[in-house]
Amino acid sequence: MAALHVSDPVKTKPYKTLRLILGDQLDPNHSWFTESDASILYVIAELHQETAYVNHHVQKVCAFFLAMKAFATTLTSSGHHVLYLTLDDTVADPTLPDLIIRLSEQYQVEAFDYQLPDEYRLTLQLSELSLPGVNIKAVDSEHFIIPRQILGRYFKPKQRHQMEAFYRKMRREQAILMEGDKPLGGQWNFDKDNRSRLKPQDLSQIPEPLVFGHNVSETLDRIHRHAIKVIGHEPSTLLWPITRNESLALLQHFCRHLLVNYGRFQDAMTDQSEHQWSLYHSRLSFSLNLKMLTPIEVIDAAISAFNDREDISIAQVEGFVRQILGWREFIRGIYWLNMPDYGELNYLEADRPLPDYFWSGETKMNCMAKTIDQSLQFGFAHHIQRLMITGTFSLLTGIHPDQIDQWYLGIYVDALEWVEMPNTRGMSQFADGGLVATKPYSASGNYINKMSDYCKSCHYKVTNKVEEDACPFNSLYWHFMERHRDRFDRNPRIGMVYRNWDKQPSAQRKLIMDRGQWCLDHIEAL
Ligand code: FAD
Ligand code: SF4
Repeated sequence: MAALHVSDPVKTKPYKTLRLILGDQLDPNHSWFTESDASILYVIAELHQETAYVNHHVQKVCAFFLAMKAFATTLTSSGHHVLYLTLDDTVADPTLPDLIIRLSEQYQVEAFDYQLPDEYRLTLQLSELSLPGVNIKAVDSEHFIIPRQILGRYFKPKQRHQMEAFYRKMRREQAILMEGDKPLGGQWNFDKDNRSRLKPQDLSQIPEPLVFGHNVSETLDRIHRHAIKVIGHEPSTLLWPITRNESLALLQHFCRHLLVNYGRFQDAMTDQSEHQWSLYHSRLSFSLNLKMLTPIEVIDAAISAFNDREDISIAQVEGFVRQILGWREFIRGIYWLNMPDYGELNYLEADRPLPDYFWSGETKMNCMAKTIDQSLQFGFAHHIQRLMITGTFSLLTGIHPDQIDQWYLGIYVDALEWVEMPNTRGMSQFADGGLVATKPYSASGNYINKMSDYCKSCHYKVTNKVEEDACPFNSLYWHFMERHRDRFDRNPRIGMVYRNWDKQPSAQRKLIMDRGQWCLDHIEAL
């Protein structure tokens, strides 16, 4: 089948340079695109290897392909020469290097340029690429606040780093939310103000999410024709932004309608609102991760809104800035300074397989059912759902981190290994032994009940610990703490938990441990 030539490059024209644009490198302001040059051919390709390294959510595949195609069109209309290859055109190129070798020969290029990929897997493939007679050059993607080459100044391999210390350093260096050398508002962190749950009167106030309605029929046809293995609900239209302009509209929507309550309800969860899947979250991760927006412009937009409006408090904007200036850059540093070993870490020696309901949402645990169902429906769950529902459950039950990584990497539209893996393996599963988090994010049903209304309509009773209808999180929490006592007893942030546990009558502790063991033995039936 003929390639979809967005700018119709002549097949035999001897372009001098071939430039690769990966699916998550859709930044029209990259210095590559400052001027158009007829001797350069840009290639954007739907690659079979990229659809196959994990089972992706069908909406994720559609969103990437539509955004890539839209980017090719944008570049073409600015005078660049672009070759867009669909799955049909790359069927004979099993890997990315195979494609590059074929195109280099076909167009007789003298040079091959690429932007440094953010994923180790692709970096390895490209760094090992051999093109005799062709000059290969890698350039920075110009996206992150800390360029790749200097990450080593901030992070050391295999060492613990504290996000809070890193974040303060970044605030100072970038002069963001600062008054001289002091943090604006007198404190660095307003986390304590950001833990409200949604009360019934708050539910009707949640703004309607801004969604886009892109036609996906052609892309779905290709996915089916090539028998790509996908998960999740097939969309009638795609709700994610696929261009920079749409991403800017989503950013504006966030600043106008959501930022005002962002921090306040950042950790809240509900199943009582039709907008429960997005609440006050920005849903900008897809646009950011594909580089349709830069982190700095997103931060600047939020700070401008804060400066212009009296109803947006410092706690809201600081909470948001911390996620991007702090967590996002931090997570990337941990990834790059610890790969490839990071992907093998399993500090807690977890070895259980992922229960089937992770793929169907069919479980009696309402919090899990709602989070999984929503993830299958939208390819999205917000941070606390990822961390404290599916993440905590996997941690408490000791599911193998490889299986959890695969699930998170596949199911979310924003999932790319550099950001998914340290969040999953590190922050949520403590499989890195504390490189990302100072202690495991373990919790009982009490936390979930405090931050959500899931427990009200659950089959299990959150106040019960040992009965047949007791919330599984309660006994699993203690079972987890007890079985890892050797590892955590001396952690100053956890020691008190053991002191309190030890004060309980031993008969009660035994009942809780038995119930925890029963839950583990019957994990598929929970
Ligand atoms: P908001 O709450 O609006 O936050 C704003 C932005 O801050 C996000 O768009 C994101 O770019 C950034 N951000 C927030 N928290 C983090 C974080 N912990 N790490 C890095 N960036 C952060 N994020 C991804 O982008 N891709 C992933 O694959 C991914 N996997 C995760 C897996 C687990 C187990 C956990 C606990 C978190 C994961 N996150 C991931 C981080 C976070 O959950 C998402 O970035 C966030 O939910 C995206 O929604 P949002 O854009 O509405 O975020
Ligand atoms: Fe989840 Fe337990 Fe609450 Fe049910 S009772 S929703 S299982 S925390």
